[in-house]
Amino acid sequence: MASKHSHVEESDNPGEPKSTDQKIRIVLVGKTGAGKSATGNTILQKKAFVSKSSFSSLTAECQKEEGKFEDQHLAVIDTPGLFDTKKTEEDVMKELAKCICLSAPGPHVFLVVIQPNRFTEEEQKTVQLIGKIFGEKATDYTMALFTHGDDLVADQISVEELIKTNENVSAIIDQCGGGYHMFNNRAEDSSQVEELLKKMNAMVEKNGGRYYTNEMFQEAKRAIDEEMKIILSQNPNMELSEARRMAETDNWLIQSVLEFAVAGAEMGAKVGKWMGPMGTAATTSLGASLGVLVGGLVTGVRAIEMETQRGCILQ
Ligand code: GDP
Ligand code: MG
Repeated sequence: MASKHSHVEESDNPGEPKSTDQKIRIVLVGKTGAGKSATGNTILQKKAFVSKSSFSSLTAECQKEEGKFEDQHLAVIDTPGLFDTKKTEEDVMKELAKCICLSAPGPHVFLVVIQPNRFTEEEQKTVQLIGKIFGEKATDYTMALFTHGDDLVADQISVEELIKTNENVSAIIDQCGGGYHMFNNRAEDSSQVEELLKKMNAMVEKNGGRYYTNEMFQEAKRAIDEEMKIILSQNPNMELSEARRMAETDNWLIQSVLEFAVAGAEMGAKVGKWMGPMGTAATTSLGASLGVLVGGLVTGVRAIEMETQRGCILQ
């Protein structure tokens, strides 16, 4: 049994070069309706995520699905529109914590999904926000993915032309360390996935073969490892992958963030107040490791708040 559990630690530590047979973790970010879930399905070549036209977000929670492309393992983490103005601070905080746990010890790629003809100034801030939430260096791990390639074909415009003619679009690409790619999510065409993965692998290579990580992702990894040990000690015959799945979606860190978010909501505390005396008191009394995560999340939520001016809408 000991040997079975000796693989709890993931082998791809930061700094360790990534070979193509290792798992590549991709986090999908972008506005509701941009085509994130459809993009996840195209990448994994299966209907893993619910994707439909709708006025509200169908993806209520972060979801991780895995698959393989040729000999490369892929983990895709789909997110609800984290930067959407309709979400409450508590919701954003909870979802960010879940997303961090699902992509721990850190993603190789933040894929910014954009619907070209719905591109707004607000979306231009997405890459900046990734930098503010996860750390400046995170932008080196971003790539833009344009959906609705079929519309561009119908309009007889190439993606290169689109970029050249729209300075907002070219600005977002300039901020992305990994450049851009275009998908037609209506087509079952594996060559577009092959091309995307080539670009992703080139970006990973450029980043020294590493995935992005920071203290928040490291804390999440620690919480998952601890939870896995507990789960496996209680269920010695459980498959490691099953224990990992359980530990990633529920662990002390997620529970604590949930409690913290609920307490903040009950006290009518807005993010500004979390950052003030109450926030400081709360984060210092949470213990060092949770403080790192909550502190990071509060900073992240506050950045979203400021950039999207959601605070004004909520008040
Ligand atoms: P999400 O909210 O970002 O997850 O967006 P969804 O994946 O749910 O997609 C929203 C709508 O856009 C759905 O009706 C999709 O079928 C549609 N959609 C996504 N990608 C494409 C694409 O490349 N071409 C076309 N024609 N429709 C797409
Ligand atoms: Mg979705």
